[in-house]
Parts: sequence; C-alpha cells; structure tokens
Amino acid sequence: MNWDDFAGWSARIGAWGADYHKSLRDRPVRAQTKPGDIAAQLPLSPPEAPEQMDAIFGDIDAIIMPGMTHWQHPRFFAYFNSNAAPPSMLADQVASILAAQCMLWQTSPAATELETRVLDWLRQGLGLADGFAGVIQDSASSATLAAVLTMRERALNFTGNQKGLANGPVLRIYCSAEVHSSIDKAIWVSGIGQDNLVKIPIRAGDPLRGIDVEALRTAIKADIAAGYTPAGIIPCVGGTGTGATDPIADVMDVAEAYDLYTHVDAAWAGSAMLCPEFRDLWAGIDRAHSIVMNPHKWLGTNFDLCAHFVRTPADLVQTLSIQPEYLKTHGADGIINYSEWSVPLGRRFRALKLWFLIRAYGLDGLRTRLRNHVDWVQGLCAQLRVLPDVEIVSEPILALFTFRVGTDDGFNLRLVNTINDDGRIYITQTKVDGKLAIRFTGCQFDATKEDVDMAYEVITDIITQLRDDA
Ligand SMILES: *Cc1c(COP(=O)(O)O)cnc(C)c1O
Repeated sequence: MNWDDFAGWSARIGAWGADYHKSLRDRPVRAQTKPGDIAAQLPLSPPEAPEQMDAIFGDIDAIIMPGMTHWQHPRFFAYFNSNAAPPSMLADQVASILAAQCMLWQTSPAATELETRVLDWLRQGLGLADGFAGVIQDSASSATLAAVLTMRERALNFTGNQKGLANGPVLRIYCSAEVHSSIDKAIWVSGIGQDNLVKIPIRAGDPLRGIDVEALRTAIKADIAAGYTPAGIIPCVGGTGTGATDPIADVMDVAEAYDLYTHVDAAWAGSAMLCPEFRDLWAGIDRAHSIVMNPHKWLGTNFDLCAHFVRTPADLVQTLSIQPEYLKTHGADGIINYSEWSVPLGRRFRALKLWFLIRAYGLDGLRTRLRNHVDWVQGLCAQLRVLPDVEIVSEPILALFTFRVGTDDGFNLRLVNTINDDGRIYITQTKVDGKLAIRFTGCQFDATKEDVDMAYEVITDIITQLRDDA
C-alpha cells in the first residue's frame, strides 16, 4: 500500500466509522451470534498471496460486525462502560500513525512532556493535592501490580527484587471483600500469595458497603503478634460489583499508625471526582500513596488509558527502574523516563488521547455528562424501587445499583438473559451477599435520558412477559 492509498482508506474508514456510530441505536447491543459462528467463516490457513484492501475491509461488515457487542451503544448498561469519545479516537489515530515507542524521554520528548502535563491537568480536575505525580499505565491491573510491587519492596527495604522472597518475612496486604479480581492477581504475580491477602468483611448495614475499619485494625494487630509483616492496604472507591466504597480517611488513620503503603482502586468511580459534589466519597484521598483511575472507563478516552497517581514516585521508580546501558539517557539530567514507572518497557503515545479529550469538551463538558449519568441512573432506581416485588439489593453509588425481582434466582437469571436476547439494552448479573442480583450502570458517553427511560420500559415489559409465560 502506498501513502496515497493509505489516505484514501483512512477517509473511507473514517466515514464508515461515523455511519456506524450514527446507526448504533438501531442495532442489538449484545452480539446475537452463537459460539463458533464467526470462527466458522475464517479460513483455517493464512493467504500465501497478497489480497486487495477491498476484500480485507469488506470482511469487516461481512464477518466481523455480526459478532460484535456494541460497547459504544448508548444503551449499554452492563459491566462498566469503556467510553470512546470521537476526539480521543482521532488522537489514537495520530498515535498509530506516528507509531512512536515512548519508553524514554529521548525516544520522543513530546510524549513524555505531554504526559506529565495532561496528567497534571487531570490531577487538578480531580481535586488531588499538588504533591501527586501521574503516569499513564495500560490498565488498572498494571497500575495495581506496580503498586503492590512497591508495597512489597518498601516493606523489604528494597531487597526483594535482588534476593527474592524465599527467606524474607511473610508479607500481608489488606483489602475489603469487595475488591476487583485485579487485586488478587497482583498479589499472585508479586509472589506475595493469595493466603497473604487478608480480606476484611464490610460493615453490616452500610449502604456504601465499606470495609469494617475496626476489623482491619484487629487483623493487623493479630498478624503482627503472629510474626507477619504488614506491607500495605488497598482500599476501593466504587468497586465493580456494587460500587463498594471504603471510608478512605478512616483507612488512612490505620495505615499511618502502622506505616503501611496505601493504593486506592478508583478505576471506575475516579472519573466522577471531576465533580466536587462527589468527592465526599473519597474524603482523605490526599493521604494515599497511590491511586488508580481509568479515563478509559467513564471519562471517554478510548481503551487503553489508565491514570496512576503517586505521592512518592521515588518508591515506584526504585521498585521498577532497571537500566542496562542501552536504556541509559546520558547528558539529560532531571528528565523522566516513564518506562521506569511501569512493568512494561514499551509505551504507546497515549497522552494524546487525554489531551484531545480534555481540550475538546473542557472539564465542564465532561462534568455535565458525569452528572447526567448519576441523575438518570438514580432516577431509574427510584422508579424500579416502587414496583411490587422489586427489591433494591444495593443502593446506588454514583451511577450503579443492583436489584432483583422476587426471591427466585432462576427467575432473575432468566430475566437478564431474555432482556439481552431482546437486544434493546444490555445488562449483567452479579452476586450480592451470596444472592443473585441484576446490575445496572449507565455511564455511556452519548447516552440520553431517553436511553435510560427505555431501560425502564424494557425491564418492565420483560418482567410482564415472563410472568405471562409462567
Ligand atoms: C475495571 C476495574 C479494574 C480493572 O481495570 P483494567 O483497566 O481493565 O485492568 C480494577 N478495579 C476496578 C474497581 C474496576 O472497576
């Protein structure tokens, strides 16, 4: 392909993309294919001869599109949205075209210096203290792994990377029972081991489903008495199942009393902190060592772009920096090499996506969307709450709540499946205190009040339909 063909194809794909997004409301949200349907259409062996772009691109509509679940559909109410605002997609095209590997300052000074600046814009937007420095990680899972490795090294006086863990103290890390599975995985990968991730129950009756701080304190004391070495605490703000939110200031009191490193997982809810009225949810956050939030969820930078803020970057860098001669930057003092802040060496030019997004909407444009989502979802919760037989299982936290209809798990599962087969909306189920519940979140970038209203219509329609069938 020559560059003139490239320009033509880029324009064609841009137009196709705009048509696709304009057509989303007319498509079923979840892919309606069966396992193996798409694979059956793909040749078993690769072509030996070149194919024309027309044929290659034609297969997008012919083969791929029927097997897509439409994550940018305004009525995608499942999981957590992975928003992709158009300016951010354009920035991603620029990053793909430059195709720079931004591991060191000198491998593209603009990438490093822009990353420093836009993460500081984001820090200001979130109302975080000016001591925090930010770095872009590929995912919250990676940021959490980096934080857990930092906890480990700090507790071992930075000897673990060299000596391994075999003859050292047994480290312990604490979190609530509501945390995301990425916490468990980071504990596995760091060599600390699942048995040393101490999961503390949540406070009975707390609508925020936060960690029981007294139980946390008791567990730490008991561990010290038993000869373990506490290394860190991982509180969450807006957990994945129900939005569980720990009382950050109280957790920080405990962490500071025992000199423990803290990493706050606000992967989803962090974006909401652009709005000052939601910041009570993480009051005390400036005392954390490390915070992760994903602009690639609610905020609108397309996947992947995870913001990781640290109050003491030196701890992170001492944990992850490795400098063979070929990675040394001679003659440039005081520069930042962001690959020393993360597990992967190579880095895409992701900062462009956040730069385009913040400039194209302004913080205020982004806040309006966040506030609307919270209002509309809480409105839907209020509408469902008054229906006979509907129980709100977990109260709304920002734009997430769970509910169930009647007492039969089987009925609720059938309800979710029938709703998703219907295609007008997409939702998922979760378990809350062992009970099946239907999970609703509505944070899609371009969703309107009418889209959330349609969710009410679909849910009530299908409840009636299933009852009539029974
Ligand atoms: C989505 C999510 C994660 C994982 O995020 P990735 O960026 O996909 O790794 C972690 N924690 C919480 C609370 C989440 O909602």
